[in-house]
Order: sequence, then C-alpha cells, then structure tokens
Amino acid sequence: MPTVLILGGTGEARRLASVLPPSYRVISSLAGRVADPALPAGEVRIGGFGGHEGLAAYLRAEHVDIVVDATHPFAERISANAAMACAETDKRLFVLRRPGYTGTFHRTPSLKAAAESLPSLGRRAFITTGRQGIGNFVHVRIWCLVRCVEEPEPLPPNFHVILARGPFTVDGELDLMREHRIDVLVTKDSGGAMTEAKLEAAKRLEIPVVVVDRPPVTPGVPIASTVDEVLRLLA
Ligand code: NAP
Repeated sequence: MPTVLILGGTGEARRLASVLPPSYRVISSLAGRVADPALPAGEVRIGGFGGHEGLAAYLRAEHVDIVVDATHPFAERISANAAMACAETDKRLFVLRRPGYTGTFHRTPSLKAAAESLPSLGRRAFITTGRQGIGNFVHVRIWCLVRCVEEPEPLPPNFHVILARGPFTVDGELDLMREHRIDVLVTKDSGGAMTEAKLEAAKRLEIPVVVVDRPPVTPGVPIASTVDEVLRLLA
C-alpha cells in the first residue's frame, strides 16, 4: 500500500485527505501553529520535522512514497524543505496550489513593499495578511484595521485588531469596511473562496487593493491547482 504524506494546514489538504482512496495510507502533517486546528480525516501528525534533514528522516522512517505539498502558498520554508527532502530521498513530490486572485490590483513583491505603498493609497487600511509578518506594517502612520485568527504581537495605537477566522461573506465584509471607513485593503495572493469576499467588497466600494505576490514554487515540481488534479497525477 503506497504511503502519501500530505503537508497541510489548508482546506485543500483536508479535502485531499478525505477523498484519497483506501488503497493509500494517508498521513496529514500540520505545523501546530493554531491552538484548535481543523483536523483532516485519517492519520495526523503535528509539529515541525526539524528542517529538510528531519523531513527526509521522517520520509524514510515512515516509508513515504509520495509527498503532496498542500501547504498555504505563502508557507515558503516548508515547501522548500519538502523539495529538498524529496530530492534527497528520491520521493515523488507534487505541489497543490489553489489559483491566485484575479483582478485589477496594486501588486507588490513583499509585505514590506505593501506597507510602504499604503500612505499613497489611503488613510484607513484593512490589513488581512495574517499575524506572521505584521511587524512589516508597524511603521505605517495611517490608521489600520488588522484581522487575524490569533492575537498578533502588540501593535502601535493606530492599529485596531479583530480576531476572526473565515470563510467571510461579501455582506459581512462590506459592513466591516463601511463601519471602519476603510479606504484601502491589503491582502496576500492567497487565492481561494474562503477569503475572496473581501475583494468583491472592495470592488463594490471602489477602494484600492494591495496584493502581495506569492513566492515562486521550486522549479521542476509538478503543480496541481485542484484536488482532482492531484488525484489524476497520483493515478
Ligand atoms: P513555513 O514558514 O513555511 O514553515 C516554518 C516551519 O514550520 C517549517 O520549517 C516546518 O518546521 C514547520 N511546518 C510548516 N508547515 C508544516 C506542516 N504542514 N507540517 C509540519 N511542519 C510544518 O510555514 P508557515 O507560513 O509558518 O505556515 C505554517 C502552516 O500554516 C503551514 O502548514 C501552512 O499550510 C499553514 N498556513 C499558513 C499560512 C500563511 O500565510 N503562511 C496561512 C494559512 C495556513 P520544521 O523545519 O521544523 O519542519
């Protein structure tokens, strides 16, 4: 029975774990970042591996045949580790990446560049780039609404934090943006239906959207954009 390791922490990873046929042994791996994670079906392990060497040792010990990197498009380190560990151990690797957002945006290459662009775009920003990396915004002098799943590091007084986990609705996002008189939205190019309501809301309110570009996928690794595509690659 082939063993598939799914590097997860996303809705797609959970969906993949639930639809892989019983002819596979399926192990899902989570980083252990959030206190109360949504657990995938089947076998689950939680916590880092200890870099690419640790992951390579795990692949050998568990006789993993195939790795599916279904982590978030911005989880750069684990993806690089997966590529290295699979190359070292001669395992097959596929990347599952949902398509990015499409639309007319102010695209920036980094969170830092996004922060620098804000004062020229608005006076009241809605920052939805997550807890990690929020430090890039602390020098921004305009008023900022920050939404994260868990409490971020302490922020300056011009920042207001709300804790919430998606999915969000367009109506809910419209209400939130109107209530706080938001005039610029910041997001990473995460893609996916869970988080795109804010883009529709921003479009309807005609406010600019700053989108931080994704880091590139390791060259040469096959990429699937849907769970069905992964199933086809596995077959
Ligand atoms: P990262 O920076 O790429 O990874 C940092 C370290 O966390 C890795 O080196 C690895 O530790 C451990 N790790 C990450 N994902 C893991 C997994 N699925 N299983 C076991 N260990 C894992 O990752 P991140 O951006 O902190 O994201 C952490 C997790 O949250 C990911 O699984 C990702 O799918 C999920 N997530 C991330 C974002 C985001 O915006 N970055 C958003 C939503 C969900 P070792 O080196 O010790 O193995």
